[in-house]
Amino acid sequence: MSSGQRVILQAVCLPPVLRGSGVEGPPAQAFDLWLQQGRVSEVFAVPGPPQGLLLPRLVDLHVHLDKSYTVAQAGPADGDLFAAISRMAQHRQGWTKADLRSRMQRALSDAYQSGTRALRTHLDWVEGQQPLSLAVFAELLAEWRGRLALQCVSLTPLDVFDDAAVAQGIAQTLAAFNAAHGDAQTIGPALLGCFIYRNPDLQARLERVFALAARHGLAMDLHVDEGLDVDACGLLHVAQLTIAHGLQGRVTCGHACSLSVQPQAQAERTLALCAQAGIHLVALPSTNLYLQGSWQTTPVERGITRLREARAAGVSTSIATDNVADSFYPYGSYDLLETFGLGAQMAHLAPVLDWLGAITTAPARAMGLAWDGAIAPGCPADLMHLPLADTFTLLSPQGRHRRVYVAGVLQPEEGIA
Ligand SMILES: [Zn+2]
Repeated sequence: MSSGQRVILQAVCLPPVLRGSGVEGPPAQAFDLWLQQGRVSEVFAVPGPPQGLLLPRLVDLHVHLDKSYTVAQAGPADGDLFAAISRMAQHRQGWTKADLRSRMQRALSDAYQSGTRALRTHLDWVEGQQPLSLAVFAELLAEWRGRLALQCVSLTPLDVFDDAAVAQGIAQTLAAFNAAHGDAQTIGPALLGCFIYRNPDLQARLERVFALAARHGLAMDLHVDEGLDVDACGLLHVAQLTIAHGLQGRVTCGHACSLSVQPQAQAERTLALCAQAGIHLVALPSTNLYLQGSWQTTPVERGITRLREARAAGVSTSIATDNVADSFYPYGSYDLLETFGLGAQMAHLAPVLDWLGAITTAPARAMGLAWDGAIAPGCPADLMHLPLADTFTLLSPQGRHRRVYVAGVLQPEEGIA
């Protein structure tokens, strides 16, 4: 089938949160869509109950391509975040370009086949020198252009930024990468990141990282408060500094597990400030389920951040894959729809169709993509059709069975979940 021919998708449900301008009707309205020349050319309301769901292709805001598929050698960390960090640090010593390329390529292929259209990966970056993975990422960025939009984030322990020369080197490398590989995107493809958890002198240290980002025109994506200590308050400092440095809308925070164990009123004050700062909050349900909560007894605390309160406060909220088959999370896959299902159950996100923005429009805006994923005439025909799914079957294996359209062309189903 060529993209020049007209394709018709009949009587689909377009969840209201995914409708673009001019697409109207009650939540259960059925629509026919025409796809032509790689775009949605027409959207008509039609009578009768809808058959299946239509979504834009998905956006995975937080993954770790460089670590994926290493668990067989590195071993699982059984719930201990810092054991996972040290296992992966040891394993990283043996990484080669060829090994990284093979694992990162496999991850991108899995994500693409599962219906993902854009993805942001963190890359371990533990010293001033740029990691091997950055050169591999640059190759993959070019190879996947037009099929998968990619961004990368330097993942560096906060304390490494104490060395001004190292800090400057990281920022300059990222800025040079953007100058060499950037297009019209306002964010990326390379962002500044770090890992923050109860560091001494947190505010002063973070202040230096924010000043660095502002000076080099870099957007930021931070691993924040990934643990269940009540006194971890990195998210609050990040929100304050985002406003102070005028970086509103350019900062993403992953994890924020501690928010789940802090008193409700305190958490809501932090979230109000996050909304003011335009922070993009991203929950990582699979890794948090594995790493947080007790391993001596059945876990009660589960580490999911306060997604519902965040959305109610006006904070942009996403759900993403995080680790796949490494020490941090030994299981999983790049099927974002499956991770979404886990998050929906873990955080009681209901009705579930109202939360589909967490894997489509919200992360697309965080990445600054040209199209946010809202479906309307004229939008790209980058779509995922779930022929059997509705509100109550979306989380079942049958409901997740999908047909993926890339620029209006149905992809071969082999390999698609
Ligand atoms: Zn992560």
